[in-house]
Amino acid sequence: MSDTAQPSQDRLTPGLYLVATPIGNLGDITLRAVDILSRCDGVACEDTRVTGKLLKHLGISKPMWRYDDHSEHRDRGRLVDSMRSRAVALVSDAGTPMISDPGYRLVNDCRAEGIPVTSLPGACAAVVGLTLSGLPNDRFLFAGFLPSKEKARRETLEELANTDATLVFYETGPRLLKSLAALKELMPEREIAVARELTKLHEECRRGLADGLMAYYDANPPKGEIVLLVGPPETHAPSDADADTMLREAMATMKASQAAAQVSKATGLDRKTLYARAMEMKSE
Ligand code: SAM
Repeated sequence: MSDTAQPSQDRLTPGLYLVATPIGNLGDITLRAVDILSRCDGVACEDTRVTGKLLKHLGISKPMWRYDDHSEHRDRGRLVDSMRSRAVALVSDAGTPMISDPGYRLVNDCRAEGIPVTSLPGACAAVVGLTLSGLPNDRFLFAGFLPSKEKARRETLEELANTDATLVFYETGPRLLKSLAALKELMPEREIAVARELTKLHEECRRGLADGLMAYYDANPPKGEIVLLVGPPETHAPSDADADTMLREAMATMKASQAAAQVSKATGLDRKTLYARAMEMKSE
């Protein structure tokens, strides 16, 4: 595939082009996205009305095909086959295809069939929310939408609670308070950001603990699209290798039981587990 960023009139190499589109502000379409959409043979999209509006805004007229990952295997097979001779752009209603949107199966099948695939970077609400929030971004875990059922939502949050990273979720206005209530119960001390209507006129990013944010959004029901971010746990649990090093250093000057107690105090790791590990290290 062409590696040029310059618009060109040449025919595109057949294959699949993953094209990110704006998440609100139409000015966020990239030059390369406009170029590929202008020169492709057709656009596979989630909703032809939504993509039709974007193409009209760009002054582009192209055949459009509805695509979702649940489409019949046969239909996907035909689309993949067509890319042996056609350049097809895949877009979602907004943002980056496949980020909580369809496309995964299509890309997987194209790769299996040796069809060239290329991905054009652009807007993605998770990344915009993360950068705007001011929460630690050296490590983040994107977890898509939380389950809508209470039990499953709770289990997901419990599973993620000890992850040493900022957690990033997609959220909707009607469900925000329920998610905040679960966070209040499971992670009451964690710094949270609610990033709403990103890149749009009423863009807002509100930070606080779950309790305060619940009170605010109870009084001001949230409208529009939301990215919910949860800062990492305060104590950064050391890796196993780091814990081993600390134990080894401590055991140079004290008994294993004392070393385990000291490392436990410093790291918050379980003393008994550390002691068992110290005994293992002694016999190694
Ligand atoms: N593929 C998209 C992307 O790259 O961001 C996400 C698609 S997902 C179906 C839609 C969810 O993304 C919304 O419910 C919301 O959580 C988030 N989202 C999309 N646009 C947003 C915006 N402008 N502001 C805040 N969140 C947004």
